[in-house]
Amino acid sequence: MPNQIFDNHGRPINYLRLAVTDRCNLRCFYCMPEEGIKYVDRQELLSYEEMLRMVGLLVDMGIRKLRITGGEPFVRRGMLEFLITLSQIKGLEKINITTNGTLTADLIPELKRIGISSVNLSLDTLDKERFFQITRRDEFDKVMQTLDGLLAHGITTKINAVVMDGKNTGDLIPMVEMTKDLPISVRFIEEMPFNGEGNHYPKLIWNHKKILDHIRAQYPNIEKLPDPPNSTSANYQIPGHRGEVGIIAAYSRTFCGTCDRIRVTPQGMLKTCLYDEGVFNIKNLMRQEATDEQLRTAFLEALGNRAKDGWEAEQNRQFGHPVSESMSTIGG
Ligand code: SAM
Ligand code: SF4
Repeated sequence: MPNQIFDNHGRPINYLRLAVTDRCNLRCFYCMPEEGIKYVDRQELLSYEEMLRMVGLLVDMGIRKLRITGGEPFVRRGMLEFLITLSQIKGLEKINITTNGTLTADLIPELKRIGISSVNLSLDTLDKERFFQITRRDEFDKVMQTLDGLLAHGITTKINAVVMDGKNTGDLIPMVEMTKDLPISVRFIEEMPFNGEGNHYPKLIWNHKKILDHIRAQYPNIEKLPDPPNSTSANYQIPGHRGEVGIIAAYSRTFCGTCDRIRVTPQGMLKTCLYDEGVFNIKNLMRQEATDEQLRTAFLEALGNRAKDGWEAEQNRQFGHPVSESMSTIGG
């Protein structure tokens, strides 16, 4: 029987989201400021060796699924080799990647070969000009090339679109329309109102209910699908469409009750909730020559003190409250 860790609320923890870098080649305005970004010093990032040691330990403790995220994972040199090594870890059943798709197209055959199960591609609009306004970079064509490549190679593909008032709400229906012929899941994410500029902007307008109402006004026959266990998205389908539509209440936090995931930031901070400020720094422990047993104990302690939901985690923060850091330092 494989090992399985549980948190203090009895939830099995089997999913690690590992942000491999805080660097990115886009500047999505909901995620990063346009200028003046202070990247972490390279030596403060977890090295590949440290990440491999940590993943190996966590797989022994019951982690089965790994998501590689960032920043943009593919801006880090050696990423493909790292993925190849990860794919050889016994007991790790799934490796998924979240990417902006700008540097991914040429790597897709290799990603397929090493068994990457699923790719989440961030794409907030189907309009090249709007893409430029949102990301401040002219990379739309490369992202679309990646989308085509993923589909051509039969890699499960989910599109992540952050819904932004006054920016891309006109894209919602065309993006739902994509699910008619393509076997993709288009997931609309509530915008978390902070973008790394150290402030928290006023109020979420397009919450999960408004997003669904908007789609339902166009597709009154939209059907709710059963939620897979631990899903963060509520999933729907338009009858007759090949693909699916998901809505992720990232800010309303409706999914915390079944949360099975932990996060590690590029600097090695363990987060047992997206909304906490980090529980302990695994890189520091490793660099102080902690043994595997000491690392295991630190993880067990952290999971034995996990907040029950994102509201409690945010409330417990001692420093930045409410949350205002960039998702590029957390991994989304
Ligand atoms: N660079 C990669 C990408 O964009 O897919 C991976 C990292 S990115 C931080 C991960 C996810 O976080 C993306 O899907 C992005 O849209 C989402 N994200 C970033 N900032 C967000 C915010 N303020 N609200 C909601 N989602 C956000
Ligand atoms: Fe980069 Fe992803 Fe953040 Fe956009 S959302 S700036 S692609 S890390």
